[in-house]
Amino acid sequence: MNNRIFIEASLDPLVAINNEGKIIDLNEAVVNITGVSRDKLTGADFLEYFNDPEKARQGYREVYAKGSVADYPLTIRNIHGKLTDVLFNGSVFKDDNGNVIGAVVVARDIAEQKWAKDLRSANKELAFQNEEKEKRASELVLANKELAFQNEEKEKRASELVLANKELAFQNEEKEKRAAELVLANKELAFQNEEKEKRASELVLANKELAFQNKVKEKRASELVLANKELAFQNEEKEKRASELVIADVELEFQNKEKEKREIATKELESLSYSAKLASQYSLSLIEASRDPLVTISPEGKITDMNEATAKIIGMTRKKLTGTDFFKYFTEQQKAREVYQEVFAKDSVADSPLTIRHKNGKLTDVYINGSVYKDDAGNVLGVVIVARDVTEQKRIATELKEAKVAAESATLLAEEAKSKAEKLTGIAEAAVKAKQQFLSNMSHEIRTPMSAIIGFTKVLLKTELTPKQEEYLSAIKLSGDSLIVLINDILDIAKVDAGKMVFEQAPFRMESSISDMLQLFESKILEKNLKLVKEYDKNIPKVLVGDPVHLHQIILNLISNAVKFTSKGKITVRVKLVSEDDEKVRVQFAVKDTGIGIEEDKISKIFEHFQQASGGTTRLYGGTGLGLAIVKHLVEPQGGFITVKSTINKGSTFSFILSFLKTNQNIAFETENLELNKEYENIKVLVVEDIALNQLLMKTILDDFGFERDIAANGKIAIEKMQKKSYDIVLMDLQMPEMNGFEATEYIRKTLNTKIPIIALTADVTTVDLAKCEAVGMNDYVSKPIDERLLYSKIVSLVKKPASAFKTKKKTDLNNTSSKCIDLHYLMQRTKSDPEMMMEMISIYLVQTPTLIKAMKQGLIDKDWQAVYSAAHKMIPSFSIMGIRGDFENMARKVQEYAKTQQHTEEIPELVLQLERVCSQACKELEEEYNTVKSTNS
Ligand code: ADP
Repeated sequence: MNNRIFIEASLDPLVAINNEGKIIDLNEAVVNITGVSRDKLTGADFLEYFNDPEKARQGYREVYAKGSVADYPLTIRNIHGKLTDVLFNGSVFKDDNGNVIGAVVVARDIAEQKWAKDLRSANKELAFQNEEKEKRASELVLANKELAFQNEEKEKRASELVLANKELAFQNEEKEKRAAELVLANKELAFQNEEKEKRASELVLANKELAFQNKVKEKRASELVLANKELAFQNEEKEKRASELVIADVELEFQNKEKEKREIATKELESLSYSAKLASQYSLSLIEASRDPLVTISPEGKITDMNEATAKIIGMTRKKLTGTDFFKYFTEQQKAREVYQEVFAKDSVADSPLTIRHKNGKLTDVYINGSVYKDDAGNVLGVVIVARDVTEQKRIATELKEAKVAAESATLLAEEAKSKAEKLTGIAEAAVKAKQQFLSNMSHEIRTPMSAIIGFTKVLLKTELTPKQEEYLSAIKLSGDSLIVLINDILDIAKVDAGKMVFEQAPFRMESSISDMLQLFESKILEKNLKLVKEYDKNIPKVLVGDPVHLHQIILNLISNAVKFTSKGKITVRVKLVSEDDEKVRVQFAVKDTGIGIEEDKISKIFEHFQQASGGTTRLYGGTGLGLAIVKHLVEPQGGFITVKSTINKGSTFSFILSFLKTNQNIAFETENLELNKEYENIKVLVVEDIALNQLLMKTILDDFGFERDIAANGKIAIEKMQKKSYDIVLMDLQMPEMNGFEATEYIRKTLNTKIPIIALTADVTTVDLAKCEAVGMNDYVSKPIDERLLYSKIVSLVKKPASAFKTKKKTDLNNTSSKCIDLHYLMQRTKSDPEMMMEMISIYLVQTPTLIKAMKQGLIDKDWQAVYSAAHKMIPSFSIMGIRGDFENMARKVQEYAKTQQHTEEIPELVLQLERVCSQACKELEEEYNTVKSTNS
């Protein structure tokens, strides 16, 4: 059978199209639906025959894109404009090689299907409307039922209302009944009230009666009082009269006496007239007796009378003076005239100063007092003048004036002296300052070469030497050491003198502080074959607040004296708790020896500067006599008092008590053991030091420690080096050319923005402001000459890098799991191998670390650099605690830094990956350790 017959017979239009969209074959149905002849259609553009060619093109493309398309709705346009809705189905056809060479399309006429659909939807609509009607009918039935129900309800309520009304009526009746009862009760009450009132008024009456009776009684009582008064009055009258009689007697007697008196008075009168005569005589002699000159002058100014004093003061006889001009005898005659005229004008004058001239020229200063005298009719007869000699007064006044002037000039002199004294004080203070400065400078100058001498001697002593050489070198070192001690002592004294001794208040562990100190004497004690005994009271709180450095210095001085002055026996250092309260403790320190002892009369002197118990002490034992003076100056300002008990040839005990504050603070583990154990290596140290000798010395010391070291000759060079290479710690000299240690530290902290530990190397702790070191951001200081052990312990405690971190090879290789990535050595040291503390710290690590890693990774995804920074920052300390290699810690530091500066952020993911690996390895190992610790200690 030929397929063509089926194709032609198909009522659905069938078209084959080539890849260009041209019709290459079709059936009769296509001719029918388009109304175009077969010939015309063949080779025509397939899309031309659709109402919406663009939609058709889209369908056609879809065939090519997907290989086929189904039921794609389109509308074919007939040549006469008739439209036929079709569903378009197509699929590509391929050649034998599988290449697409065209598409076959079937278009199904769906006009008929559409009509059926419309019919179906009309039916549905009808059914829907019927349903709606039925629904409404049933709703109506419901509504009717509801209405009937509501009617019933209304009827029910109406009958209930009838009942309620009845009830109401009944209640009203009840109320009325009760009201009537109440009326009755009220009446009863009113009656009872009336009764009460009646009784009350009866009571009022009874009261009134009582009151009346009381009044009567009172009246009687007052009548009695009156009667008594009358009686008393009559008694008084009687007495009065009796006394009047007495008075009358007295009067009589008095009158008698008066009579007698009058008689006497008459006699007296007679004698008085006689004595008046005498009196005028008497006043005359009084006038004469006056030492002040007295003169009477006539209105014309002539002297009319005078006393002897006047004659004396002028140096002329009375006779000669009488009748002469009064003013003649004064140095200022015109003024004298005016004075006496003033007396006439004003009736009197007081204290007018004039000077009388004696005949022989002697002058007398006087104050003139005068007043007029009149006759009985009031006419002025003349003036009386009294001239008071004031020479003496004047002299005193001038003396006073002179004294005042003298006093003023003395004050001036005193002020001058004061300002001179002040200047001198200033000069003296400047001199003290200069002395202090001089001492500081000198100490600096001496210490620098001394540190080199001591340092190199130490270095030399470590080389191979002949016994002789060793002996000489030891002697050099010994001399150097004692010179340094002397310089330190002198500086301390200078500091005390300048009032510059400052006492710290810092928490410290007292017991370890004391033990450290005792260790220093071990070799000396062994050498002298002595015993050193420590008696430490365990009740003393572990951590106390005070000044450990000065406490160290005090005890050090006392022990070194004890060792020095004892040749056999033992030295006991006793530390005892004296008292304790909530805030502080009082601790007694005693250093006892079995040495030479001190004579009693010398005991009070040994605390003075440069004082020794006997003249030969220096020769025999050395020393300068400064140690105890320093001890005293260190104990007393802290509220303590040093005492000594001593017996010659038996020994001495020096003791003192100091108070320390208590604290809850726990001190971080200190490098209690200053032993040089080679546990830490490869620490990279940058030494900033300008003096070549010191540079060399530092090199040898650091080489000895096994540290890497670089030298910079000043701060500027140091900064350049730090920018090129990373270091673990910086040792910084302070005084250097170009850029000094303070400036360099400030630059490192503020501009380079790094927290690298910096230790100041100071030649002189007095003048160098240690506070300044701290302020610029230095972590610690070491004074020159360098104590190697101290330097080592300070470097290590600041860097805190366990040696294991450096001994393993540099590059991270975690595939090699044969070696452990953790090292609990440090943790054991820190916790003093306390299993509980170790377990606690491990479990903290186990909880914290995965969280931090997660946070870091999340931060990376979110590009939240702050989160990355903070997680890395929190993680850093855990590396050294768990003894994880330092290069991992450095990785964490890099992550921290890159996240902070947002530079090299592309390197962070790799670093975080490595950290994650090492941390999960560490967690595994730590879990095992945890279990081991647990099982061995449970
Ligand atoms: P230095 O010891 O340098 O002479 P110190 O001020 O320390 O100066 O002591 C002053 C003096 O007190 C000493 O020279 C010595 O005579 C006496 N002294 C101090 N401690 C003791 C002691 N433990 N035993 C005997 N004498 C002592």
